[in-house]
Amino acid sequence: MSLNTTDLEAVRAGARERLGHTTTVEAVEELRQHLLGRSGELTTLLKGLGSAAPEERPELGRLANEVRTEVEDAIGERLAALRDAALDDRLEAEALDMSAPGRPMPVGHLHPVMTLMRDLREIFHAYGFEVFEGPEIETEEYNFELLNIPADHPARDLWDTLYVAEPGTAGTDQGRPAEDGTILRTHTSPTQIRAMRALEPPIRVLTPGRCFRYEAVDASHGFEFFQVEGLVVDRDTSLADLKGLLEEVARALYGRDVETRFRPGYYPFTEPSVAFDIGCLVCGGEGCAACGRSGWMTILGAGMVHPTVLRAGGYDPDEFQGYAFGMGPDRMTMLRHGIGDIRLFFSADRRFLDQFPDGR
Ligand SMILES: [Zn+2]
Repeated sequence: MSLNTTDLEAVRAGARERLGHTTTVEAVEELRQHLLGRSGELTTLLKGLGSAAPEERPELGRLANEVRTEVEDAIGERLAALRDAALDDRLEAEALDMSAPGRPMPVGHLHPVMTLMRDLREIFHAYGFEVFEGPEIETEEYNFELLNIPADHPARDLWDTLYVAEPGTAGTDQGRPAEDGTILRTHTSPTQIRAMRALEPPIRVLTPGRCFRYEAVDASHGFEFFQVEGLVVDRDTSLADLKGLLEEVARALYGRDVETRFRPGYYPFTEPSVAFDIGCLVCGGEGCAACGRSGWMTILGAGMVHPTVLRAGGYDPDEFQGYAFGMGPDRMTMLRHGIGDIRLFFSADRRFLDQFPDGR
């Protein structure tokens, strides 16, 4: 096949046209092969130069070179343009938008029992109470004797105690309680003695903390639980003060309409002792399974500090009086949310805990 001007011009025009339609580097490379490859369209045409008439050769040769150079340049430019565009796209995709809002970091929230204890601290803070903490590992002396519960007192049976073993005997057949009477505190009341001995009157302290008892675990009992103890010691306090305070606290926690009542109770370290009830939050006082058909739910025990305990704390009962109360935040949280099983609190189950996302 002989080379002619028309064919060369057709290849030039076709190359320009098709190049204009390429959108990827790969498509341009393909076109380059198609035109300039070993058996490409333009390569094949150029091979025909030798069979052209001798007088036409110089002119055809000049045009052929021109077309080849032009096609090669056009392909090179097109490739460069496409690579630039791809780089721009990548830069755009990877660009940092400094105005974009940050991704929220997953943060935890308070356990519902911790929330209730926080609320208690805030409520009592308004009444002038400060937090005073005591150790979880206590002595029998502080846990019992100084609180008017001597070793032979039948009330000791009320607290099933976990004893700390004598060093080296734990977990063995010979395991025995430490001789110094080290125990895990069964209630937060030992801090009454510690607060009285550490502080100057008037004393108004709140003691939140963990307690331990040798209990079989069921829906309403755990071997560990929380208490929040309160203690007031002053020259002129009375059961009426205690009643007024607890009524206000119940309203702050459970709403202004909550019903309250005192009824007689028994604790060795208070005299007189009372149980403090609120009207059942489930049935509104009608009587239901949750309140044992009574219409009332006990939320704490309280009383006037026993003279023996005042003396143990270093106070003359003729000069000072005091009142104390112990709350069960686990049970109070169950009441607050209508939770039926205390074991859920220690289950570490997110499906349970996430129902209280803001801690309430
Ligand atoms: Zn009820």
